[in-house]
Amino acid sequence: MPEGRIVKALAGFYYVSYEGNVFQCRGRGNFRKRKISPLVGDWVEFESSSPTDGYILDIFERKNELVRPPIANIDQALLVFSAVEPAFAPVLLDRFLVHIEHNYIHPVIVVSKMDLISSEKERLKIEDYISLYRNIGYEVIPTSTKTEADLTHFHELFKDKVTVFAGQSGVGKSSLLNLINPELKLETNEISSHLGRGKHTTRHVELIPFGEGLVADTPGFSSLDFNGIGQETLSNLFPEMERRLDGCKFRGCSHTSEPKCAVKEALAAAEIDQERYDHYVSFLQEIKDQKRRY
Ligand code: GDP
Ligand code: ZN
Repeated sequence: MPEGRIVKALAGFYYVSYEGNVFQCRGRGNFRKRKISPLVGDWVEFESSSPTDGYILDIFERKNELVRPPIANIDQALLVFSAVEPAFAPVLLDRFLVHIEHNYIHPVIVVSKMDLISSEKERLKIEDYISLYRNIGYEVIPTSTKTEADLTHFHELFKDKVTVFAGQSGVGKSSLLNLINPELKLETNEISSHLGRGKHTTRHVELIPFGEGLVADTPGFSSLDFNGIGQETLSNLFPEMERRLDGCKFRGCSHTSEPKCAVKEALAAAEIDQERYDHYVSFLQEIKDQKRRY
């Protein structure tokens, strides 16, 4: 049986990409007993009933799945955060990073609108953040859709992967996607406000070929509460803490008030950034409060 990948779901049909062709498929078969339904991004076993149609027989195990947008098997998330307009938002970035790490998705940070930086002070601040995240081990790409000429890096980045874009509204996700692939012609904010309607309304999700990769044509991670993330798991999702956990005296150390805590020692030695640590503490509190409510 051929194995393909669902690249679009619409009106009860699943569009399965296989060796350069797309088959319009209905679901049929065993997976229904497992109470799962096909998602865009799923690898499936299917049977073709004609050169254009077929049936999905089985769904292969997923490495991850998002609810919004509903996509399975995401490899990578490009977290787009503008340097200015809207101002660079480190708390939100850390929140996104925690979610992405938790979903086994590889994060790449894109700092957009670099051309809009207008003062030396602003430039130094953004450069400090770029170094901070690079030192933790994240890939950070400063960019601008207004001045960027060389996009080969992006093509390389997307190769053989399923990528979602995430980030606040107005940071330049659509502009970036359009720049990388002009055929997409996504509406950017100025156009949609002109027409007096929001973007991303009632659209289906689709994985669009991008060089040798696939990219979701809608932004991901709109819901960012900490449901499903345990108190003990949180420090695993901060790589600079995760690396030091073995050094804490107590197992399950929360890195707040325990003695002989390797994380707090690293913080005191300025090897862990204070602001990142503060975000960790506030997320931890949020998780505790959440638990109390249920
Ligand atoms: P989205 O909501 O994240 O998809 O953001 P858009 O792509 O719609 O961009 C929001 C606004 O920022 C639009 O007016 C874009 O023209 C503008 N914009 C996007 N990227 C850049 C950039 O790199 N530099 C400048 N100066 N403006 C940008
Ligand atoms: Zn500790």
